[in-house]
Amino acid sequence: MDDVGGIETSEEIDVIQCPCGRVIKDPEEYKIVYLKHELKEIDILCPNDSCYLRELGYIKFEIVNGKAKFKEASFYPPFVTWNSGRLGADKATKILKEHLKKIAQRVDWERLGKTEKT
Ligand SMILES: [Zn+2]
Repeated sequence: MDDVGGIETSEEIDVIQCPCGRVIKDPEEYKIVYLKHELKEIDILCPNDSCYLRELGYIKFEIVNGKAKFKEASFYPPFVTWNSGRLGADKATKILKEHLKKIAQRVDWERLGKTEKT
């Protein structure tokens, strides 16, 4: 491959994008909110406040012996389909899985367990 003199085309970089147009390079950018207490579900929101999708995915957990335990996490189909169309299904799935993992690490599981104590 030819050296192009250090010029990088930004289009070549594999980044996740919300259908609203917001590029999400870092999983830190997602907003995570815990509103659905009765469902034990954490919403993953688009960093763009005026996003028409808003909810991009969710994390579900359960309470075991007073401690919050990760159950499952997933992105919603419109977001996944959009990125699969852009990056290809394999690549998109791989990156999104990595994002979910990072998002789950941001959750304060200990605190979550305390708030859910019955
Ligand atoms: Zn968005």
